[in-house]
Amino acid sequence: MSETVKVMVRARPINKREIAEGSRLCVECDRKTNQVILKKPSDPSEMPKAFTYDSCYDWNSTQRSVYDEGAFPLVESVIEGYNGTIFAYGQTGCGKTHTMMGYKDDPAERGIIPNAFEHIFGYIDQADTKTIKFLVRCSYLEIYNEDIRDLLGKNVDAKLELKEDPNKGVFVKDLTCFVVKTISEIEKLMQQGSGNRKVGETAMNKDSSRSHSIFTIYIETSEDIGQDEPRIKAGKLNLVDLAGSERQSKTQAEGVRLKEATKINLSLSALGNVISALVDGKSQHIPYRDSKLTRLLQDSLGGNTKTLMIAAISPSDFNYDETLSTLRYASRAKAI
Ligand code: ADP
Ligand code: MG
Repeated sequence: MSETVKVMVRARPINKREIAEGSRLCVECDRKTNQVILKKPSDPSEMPKAFTYDSCYDWNSTQRSVYDEGAFPLVESVIEGYNGTIFAYGQTGCGKTHTMMGYKDDPAERGIIPNAFEHIFGYIDQADTKTIKFLVRCSYLEIYNEDIRDLLGKNVDAKLELKEDPNKGVFVKDLTCFVVKTISEIEKLMQQGSGNRKVGETAMNKDSSRSHSIFTIYIETSEDIGQDEPRIKAGKLNLVDLAGSERQSKTQAEGVRLKEATKINLSLSALGNVISALVDGKSQHIPYRDSKLTRLLQDSLGGNTKTLMIAAISPSDFNYDETLSTLRYASRAKAI
């Protein structure tokens, strides 16, 4: 099971505000041992803490290397007919959206999602269309306060229901699903959906997202293998940009914001519990039912699927406590 869940940590560059405020680097990533070492510069008596992951990347890492080393094998297996999920987890402002989306107009700064589009359609373009046919579809939804909204739907404000069917498994009733034939078609849908996300301002970050978004790509192939029936494969790739994991005190949450924070904490801890139960391998019971997020991803977590968790962290000692909590969360997802 541990082979199917990979955990990567990525530290973003220190930013101008942190430099101006005199904050210091508190993170080191050792690419040889895949260890992340956290130190408290203001308190040398505090022992450095070391965590080991499948891979780690510091501020010198490129979007390309994150894709090639982390996402590429997972997307390949989705093309081969398996389900897979890539999550970005972490405190607001640490690079989740940068890693998942990046700047789509700058080829060097494209994140995992646009790189996956290119990967999938590149594969299709090279395939022999005489013997193999592809059907690619996508959907895009958001979970906000445990309500599901269809980011590609006619009515974005409608709350969709989660349903369970003996054949289909768990699914979102009435979720819009578009057939896509080209990169530009799928990019357009991605942009349209992103524009429909709910955005909340907190003291941490002006456009921090308080919701989880899931962009799903469904790939079906039908291959003529010289027999009566073609060989059919179906895989699906969930690309998940999670809401910020920060605790509410730092963002001075009140009222509606506090309610959001409670729901966010609930689904992030449910996700952590599911992944650690999967990685543990001994658990009889995987607590998928504890949140909408985990119910929705049930058929793409565990079993015959691949999962990549990317924990995004800040390198600055200003965020020491949040970074420690993110590193701990990510290390629960690693087999002991
Ligand atoms: P989050 O989605 O976790 O709230 P963002 O992805 O929006 O965080 O990142 C916050 C800021 O930091 C953005 O301006 C983003 O461009 C920048 N940033 C994050 N990660 C990197 C990185 N690896 N390299 C360069 N800039 C980054
Ligand atoms: Mg974001």
